[in-house]
Amino acid sequence: MPVTLIQVTKIKKLTLLLLLPVTCYLLPVSCFRPKNSVKEDSPVKINVVSDNTYNAKLDVVMRNAELPVALSGRIKTAAAASPAFMADLSACLEGDRYLRALVDKGHSLPAGYAPSDLVTLTEGSYRVSRNGLTLRRATAAALDEMAKAARADGVTLVASSAYRSYEYQTQVYDRNVREMGREAADRESAKPGHSQHQTGLVVDFGSIDDSFAVTAAGRWMSANASRFGWSLSFPDGYEEVTGYRWESWHYRYVGKNLAAFIDNYFDGIQQYALRFIYEWEQFKEQIAESK
Ligand SMILES: [Zn+2]
Repeated sequence: MPVTLIQVTKIKKLTLLLLLPVTCYLLPVSCFRPKNSVKEDSPVKINVVSDNTYNAKLDVVMRNAELPVALSGRIKTAAAASPAFMADLSACLEGDRYLRALVDKGHSLPAGYAPSDLVTLTEGSYRVSRNGLTLRRATAAALDEMAKAARADGVTLVASSAYRSYEYQTQVYDRNVREMGREAADRESAKPGHSQHQTGLVVDFGSIDDSFAVTAAGRWMSANASRFGWSLSFPDGYEEVTGYRWESWHYRYVGKNLAAFIDNYFDGIQQYALRFIYEWEQFKEQIAESK
């Protein structure tokens, strides 16, 4: 028997009715859309709902990350204007998760964490202020690449502190508490498990004090480090945000994708970008757990 046009339409409606409870569960927004805006045979509906979900997620993530209102507004505009934002974010979410790990006063590394690929730094393109400094293998290679570029500009980088184990950080923190009291110790140093140095991705350069900022190396790093995947962790004027006063000498290797993401969307403030990424991944986990 030939199938008429009316029968086809009925089959479509029946299929839609059967699918409706599933659609409502997965995409609650679609249940409250005006009837006449729903097109049975158009895939556009799915895209519209996805966009809404994406924008809603962006709002929640930026709120949870406690980003400044003006910055959130600019990110939202950038995300709406071009798919580049999502592509750039996706690139940051790939690969080694420690490159993007939020390690600050409120977020620690996993208990007992120690990188498995530490290598000893040897002088060559850069200098070391003492023997035995270690970094993760790829970070040491990234330091070498950056130091060669600095050398070509007539600047020598000096690595003065690098990986610190949980045990070593315990000694540093306890000594600071003894010498300067707990409040000052918290401002100057991290509790064990909360130091970026424990990631094996961080170098303190030069004098490890404020004088570094005005040296040739300090100026060169400030202008060029992010091109090589390095990011200043505690910038000037952001103690409220990072929990630390300005440390012009403390750079964390985050990889080139994330370093560009920080510069392009987060005003160069690493802490904002890492918080954003942390909340973005938390959000995904919440969705996964609720299923
Ligand atoms: Zn440091």
